[in-house]
Amino acid sequence: MSGSFESFSASALYCSSCRKPMAVQERLLLVLPGKEIYDYLCTGCGSSLGQREVPALPGDVPPFGTALPHSRRHGYRGRRGP
Ligand SMILES: [Zn+2]
Repeated sequence: MSGSFESFSASALYCSSCRKPMAVQERLLLVLPGKEIYDYLCTGCGSSLGQREVPALPGDVPPFGTALPHSRRHGYRGRRGP
């Protein structure tokens, strides 16, 4: 079950520098608590064509909501805004 979506990654993105869809290289850009940010680099010119946020692997960090039901409820009501 896990991993089926892992294979999905952008294989080509439009590059404004190359003026055509280019193959991209996925590169780990940043590791944050709870998520990782990947950078897509054009294999032609090396420009960054986009980023992707990936939730941290299950088991590494408890997913949201498993901590304290009470605080979760409170947080949920308080997070209606952006
Ligand atoms: Zn390019």
